[in-house]
Amino acid sequence: MTNPDAWGETLAECRRLDQEDPLTPLSRQFALPRGVIYLDGHSLGPLTRSASAAVQRTVRGEWGPMIIGGWNEADWIGLPARTAARIAPLIGAEPEETACADSVSVNLFKLAAGALALRPDRKTVLMVESEFPTDGYVLQGLARLRPDIRLKIVPAGELKGALDPETALLVASHADYRTGALADLSGLSQAAAAVGALSLWDLSHTTGLATIDLNAAGADMAVGCGYKYLCGGPGAPAFAFLARRHHAGFLNPIAGWMGHARPFDFEANYSPASGADRLMAGTPPILSMAALHASLDLFEGVAPGALLARSRTLSSLFERLTASVATAHGFSLASPAEAERRGGHLAYTHPDGYPIVQALIAAGVVGDFRAPDLIRFGFSPLVVSRSQVWTAARRFAAVMDSETWRNPSFSRRQTVT
Ligand SMILES: *Cc1c(COP(=O)(O)O)cnc(C)c1O
Repeated sequence: MTNPDAWGETLAECRRLDQEDPLTPLSRQFALPRGVIYLDGHSLGPLTRSASAAVQRTVRGEWGPMIIGGWNEADWIGLPARTAARIAPLIGAEPEETACADSVSVNLFKLAAGALALRPDRKTVLMVESEFPTDGYVLQGLARLRPDIRLKIVPAGELKGALDPETALLVASHADYRTGALADLSGLSQAAAAVGALSLWDLSHTTGLATIDLNAAGADMAVGCGYKYLCGGPGAPAFAFLARRHHAGFLNPIAGWMGHARPFDFEANYSPASGADRLMAGTPPILSMAALHASLDLFEGVAPGALLARSRTLSSLFERLTASVATAHGFSLASPAEAERRGGHLAYTHPDGYPIVQALIAAGVVGDFRAPDLIRFGFSPLVVSRSQVWTAARRFAAVMDSETWRNPSFSRRQTVT
């Protein structure tokens, strides 16, 4: 099934193109285990050298010697705002419109609940049925607190047509977590605004990957993940965006002291901090945030557009190199076939997806599995090279042709897939 001569040609070509690519040297910023080809940056970005150093520095150089003094001496108190200011240019926002706090789930709750209060006479929240589950769960929870609100759930292609004058809020992901298909962020934001609804985007699968310009798109609100392409580390803080035009009227339903205008005045009553700072709630996780802040070094000086372009080059290469093996072994591509409609990962369906992913991991190719039958390979553009894609395709063919995935040990389900 494999033709080593043809493949050999391609590997030399991949190496040459890697050498010419200005993004290739950035892969040295990652500390990956030897021999591992990491195609899972869309789930958890790998450790960066800068994050590793920052956590050591924060623990040994700040927490240890400064103890509580670190809040002032090391400006821990300013770290969320400094981190948000590094995220802002990646999403087309201003620093005052961006907060770094909590998880995507919690930020989604804060923004969605606050958005409903900005549209008090409207009762519908619109979302797509294929949305990442936590987004749906959070909105269901919100609807239980607000029995007057109706959740309207439609297929992805029908969002625009489902917007009407009853719609208070549109909630949508920029990239579908299963297929990687990109939504029309700008067109949908404008369509929502045209009927007087607000838009709330989940940028978890595109921040640090795609060029995003929330303000040019006219988006109202957004949330996004710190531990995927941003490489903030497991459970890294998430971010939230609130467009400037909503700053005067928006109230955070989790009105914690860190979102207060003067937390250390210890006033009895709440008054919100200015801008997106009001989206903060409790004390920020300094160790996690130090890691995220440091990993954002990755994006300094990277040309907008270069990241997604490289990722698409890599996913197209993988698709081409594995096409005959994938077809022979019953894989179907679940991602858009046209690279320009894709985000950073490729997804295939296969009834034996779980053991196949486990066998690939054992062979040094780390992808992931999403129930019921989805296999995802992520092409984080700073992490993965063309020659690694070539080797990954080779190992994929070997695992499928030799059927090693049928070994029963690969079918034992772990808690996290
Ligand atoms: C990863 C991801 C999340 C993660 O949410 P957390 O609450 O931060 O765990 C949410 N939404 C989408 C679309 C994601 O891809």
